Amino acid sequence: MDVFGLLGNPVGHSLSPPMHEAVYEALGMDARYVTFEPAPEELETAVRGAAALGVTGLNVTIPFKEDVLGLVEPDDRAARIGAVNTIDFGTHPPTGHNTDAAGVLRSFAERGVDLNGSEAVVVGAGGAGRATAFALADAGARVSIANRTVDRATALADDVPDATGHGLDVLSERVPRADVLVNATSVGMNENVSPVPTEALHGELAVLDAVYRPLETRLLCEAAERGAVTIDGGRMLLHQGAAAFERWTGRDAPVDAMEQALYDRL
Ligand code: NAP
Repeated sequence: MDVFGLLGNPVGHSLSPPMHEAVYEALGMDARYVTFEPAPEELETAVRGAAALGVTGLNVTIPFKEDVLGLVEPDDRAARIGAVNTIDFGTHPPTGHNTDAAGVLRSFAERGVDLNGSEAVVVGAGGAGRATAFALADAGARVSIANRTVDRATALADDVPDATGHGLDVLSERVPRADVLVNATSVGMNENVSPVPTEALHGELAVLDAVYRPLETRLLCEAAERGAVTIDGGRMLLHQGAAAFERWTGRDAPVDAMEQALYDRL
């Protein structure tokens, strides 16, 4: 039996278990997806123990994505982002990957959004903002990063090719001439507020909101009213999971089965 799982604290409300269990059922795999909540001081023991026990792969979530970086061999993108959300124990040493970036890119790709040469605005410079900014830049976008804490945005922009860092005040000027907009803050999660001024939105935008509770955030509703392409945070969550499964197994993920399991619960 293959054992996969999620390392985080807390992990009780995670949607990853049903999403991945749906894969095993669809493919007839003898596998389980288990959640683990080690104490922070036990993280290294947990990762080493998982390797020793033959665990096939782990996802990693808050608060361990950064700390796991030093416990595995990160690939180039995870090292640049500074965070690992997927550990592959099928390699020696175990490797670390960041499939949040793949989640962003696949979410735009499935809607036919061409990122190459685009003007992109990323709101947020935390974990999701970092993964998004690197992903968009790797795809050929010029990225403006806007964050409440300006220093975080400028520090991130120093690392991302062709990027600039700003405060949130830049949104009313940058969004009107952008092709792509991503909300990578927690603003809008379980609250009816948007991080982007309504009047800056327009019909030529493709907007991804990383927030997935609710799926229809105020930002996405306002963007849709102006004719923008809108992509909810469930797509990013779905595709990061699919990319992790593909990394672990080398098999194509049954995205339809994962989607149903996920969206049934969102
Ligand atoms: P994080 O590392 O804690 O970063 C939080 C970000 O939100 C920071 O940029 C922070 O700005 C900003 N922020 C928080 N409260 C704010 C406010 N009141 N006004 C303006 N900005 C505010 O969190 P994260 O891991 O990046 O997650 C961010 C969001 O993305 C969450 O909603 C999370 O659920 C979602 N997410 C979704 C996926 C997916 O697959 N769909 C994946 C990862 C994350 P400061 O730097 O100024 O504090």
